[in-house]
Amino acid sequence: MNVQTIDDDQTTLDADHVDALAERLRGPLLREGDAGYDAARQVWNGMIDKRPALIARCTGAADVMDAVRFAREHDLLLAVRGGGHNVSGDAVCDGGLTVDLSRMNGVHVDPEAQVARVEGGATWGDVDRETQAFGLATPGGVVSTTGVAGLTLGGGLGWLRRKHGLSCDNLRSADVVTAEGERVTASADENPDLFWGLRGGGGNFGVVTSFEFDLHEVGPEVLFVGVMYPMEEAGRLLPAWRDFMAEAPEEVSSQAMLWTVPEMEGLPEAAQGRPVCMMGALYSGDPDEGKQVLGPLRELSDPVLDMSGVMPYTAVQASQDHFYPAGELQYYWKSTELERLDDEVIDALLDHAAERPSPRTHLIVWHQGGAMRRVGPDETAFGDRSAPYLLTIDSTWFDPARNEENVAWAREAWQDMQRFSGGGLYLNIAGMSENGEGLVRSAYGGTYDRLVEVKTRWDPDNVFRMNQNIEPTA
Ligand code: FAD
Repeated sequence: MNVQTIDDDQTTLDADHVDALAERLRGPLLREGDAGYDAARQVWNGMIDKRPALIARCTGAADVMDAVRFAREHDLLLAVRGGGHNVSGDAVCDGGLTVDLSRMNGVHVDPEAQVARVEGGATWGDVDRETQAFGLATPGGVVSTTGVAGLTLGGGLGWLRRKHGLSCDNLRSADVVTAEGERVTASADENPDLFWGLRGGGGNFGVVTSFEFDLHEVGPEVLFVGVMYPMEEAGRLLPAWRDFMAEAPEEVSSQAMLWTVPEMEGLPEAAQGRPVCMMGALYSGDPDEGKQVLGPLRELSDPVLDMSGVMPYTAVQASQDHFYPAGELQYYWKSTELERLDDEVIDALLDHAAERPSPRTHLIVWHQGGAMRRVGPDETAFGDRSAPYLLTIDSTWFDPARNEENVAWAREAWQDMQRFSGGGLYLNIAGMSENGEGLVRSAYGGTYDRLVEVKTRWDPDNVFRMNQNIEPTA
């Protein structure tokens, strides 16, 4: 079998060695031509079409340990797949070995201790389902099909961020398979340098086989606002949203989005195809209180569509899933922090929104602060949290023939918005990793040197390189 080595070379792998690995693993080891191979190599972004030589569909830490050791022994390029959602497609690799954790999706909740133990391939939908049975939650993302692993290791921004912080802030400990194929635990008391690196440093340090999260009382019913106003009014509405959020309590996490109501079954016909400025907000406390607090966001103008109401927290978490089907659409998403949201920034946002080549594309302004800002810049690898807003520029389209145009639009918009940014960005939403070390360094700023130290200690040969890579010291 022809394979790709870690040093970007080609070599051949003896069939006996592959068979021996297949026998050891509890889960299947897939090769080209095997049933399930094509489904297993597909990730969420339809633009990604990679063919790993081997896909180890691990069922536990022992499989992960053997797969990593095998990759080391044979110098194979290695990729790690959690939920498979990263736009870059780094969860799979051409010609190498993909360690696929998607079967490892167990969640165990201890309601007394308010802790959840979550396997490394679980999605946020898996976590919310189990934790909400006890009226508990830990901060995840805003789409339930996203993987816990990639999202948490890169930070994790969701509807609870201002009340309970980032996902990585709620991590108590993690079990990790290292580059040596050994399993260690990382927590404040055990391997604290690794624990620091896992909270924002991405998949650079090892394969996380399970996470232990703090849980908080949330729901089961919450007040959610999802209101869409005509795009023509956005120039007036965005300053109103900004001023509202400046005074809003930490129970409120919110974002404003410029996009077009999709032409989809289930949405009112009159709204379909209308460019809108959408305000989304969740109130994480008592829903009646939430109605009072968030009422003004629903009264800014005559809405095109208002999907707000008291609903189960799990329904809020899954409410956007159908807009982001796996494998069907092409996606190229980038992000940059914004230092302000004044008229000049808003004008630029509206200009870019008007030029979107695809109606499914959106620009989202995520309001930050609250609990996520109370964690100091040195406390986690995520680093500085002082920027008031994060902008994501989310190019999303159907036709692969239009890849170039849609990617170019996102890059140009991102480049232009740099004049309003201090240089920070969110590495979980950072295009195709094409900007290399420069972008990673810029994203981490002051924490980069410490990340290099931790990387050099835990992965000196850069076995885990299919990610926003931090290069170890030679
Ligand atoms: P994968 O593609 O499986 O993994 C991404 C990378 O993480 C891998 O390349 C690998 O380096 C590493 N990795 C994965 N699993 C492991 C593991 N078990 N151990 C070690 N390393 C691992 N982000 C937010 O913060 N908030 C959001 O609300 C949000 N919404 C999103 C919605 C959609 C539809 C999409 C596509 C993305 C969204 N994101 C959001 C971005 C998201 O955080 C990243 O795409 C993240 O990488 C997804 O994690 P994953 O496990 O699904 O991805």
